[in-house]
Amino acid sequence: MCSFQLSSLDDILAQDKIQQVERILASHTTNTILTVSKLSEQLSVDDEVSDKVLEILYNNDVLNKYYAVQCPECELLIQDFKALVDIPEEIYCYNCDETISLSRDNIYVVYRISDSFSGGQFNDEVMTLSKLTVRQTDSFVYKLAQCNYNFNKLLYSPTQKQFKELEDLYNLAFNSKHANTKSKGDAFEDLCRMLFNCCNCFKAANLKTRTNQVDCYVRSYFRFSKDLIDAENYSIYVECKNENKTPGVGYFNKLHSILVTSSARQGIIMSRKKASKNYLLDAQTFYLSSKIIIINIDKDDIYDIIFHRKNFLEVIDVKFSEIQALAANSLKNLGLV
Ligand SMILES: [Zn+2]
Repeated sequence: MCSFQLSSLDDILAQDKIQQVERILASHTTNTILTVSKLSEQLSVDDEVSDKVLEILYNNDVLNKYYAVQCPECELLIQDFKALVDIPEEIYCYNCDETISLSRDNIYVVYRISDSFSGGQFNDEVMTLSKLTVRQTDSFVYKLAQCNYNFNKLLYSPTQKQFKELEDLYNLAFNSKHANTKSKGDAFEDLCRMLFNCCNCFKAANLKTRTNQVDCYVRSYFRFSKDLIDAENYSIYVECKNENKTPGVGYFNKLHSILVTSSARQGIIMSRKKASKNYLLDAQTFYLSSKIIIINIDKDDIYDIIFHRKNFLEVIDVKFSEIQALAANSLKNLGLV
């Protein structure tokens, strides 16, 4: 398993360095913490190379990635989180004995060897976060710069294991026989939820309101980037339609009214079949009348996302922008702007 996963480092490291990585990984256990600055020192490579190595190891499920928050007062690393969406706005620092507000500048990225790679080995010498020294190159801000401030790339980067799960869910939803329509629908909902949950900025779950059942409710969380992109915390309501017919206009109207009553602005109809062209006209009207955007993501889009590794957030972004552009264009054509 080891050599197979490490072969993905061929493009950026010489053979002797790859062997060194192998030795470093073999000597560490699940409680060891790796960072960009530590690895670049150990391997005598640039921070940029070290960052790439760690990301490749993470994408191949050799390492798990965590976001550690540091107290801005005493610089102690307090706690780490699996996803950005889990980081609270405020946290208690036991060293300062006070609750402190967190910003993007207080986040550092750390890696631990995954259970599957280390065989679940632990050693007695527990490396705690509080003993770790971090540098600027370990920060979340550095990560952002490394991907040219492309949030979609930073926030959506499934590991090989996650892609395998997505492929299985795709096949279950679209290529398997189901006993009834409910099980067919449920399989598709599982796939959609997993897709959203692969994004570091989203939490997706089923939502039952008093009047409606929403197949998938997604809470988005861009708090740590608000000075870079124009996005606040927002919700996306998702309807999943695994039917063999084109999703009808009724579904779009129903989703529109759910969005209006919940003061949300973004909705997605995920469907097996593509919505008809007419949907684009309705979508423009929704946007012009209430700034609500409803997009359609169909089976072919999902195929591209899972099997051709198209960025899911990019797909959503492009479709949202398309509706806005079409609406702006119609106003222009009518001579209203
Ligand atoms: Zn402190």
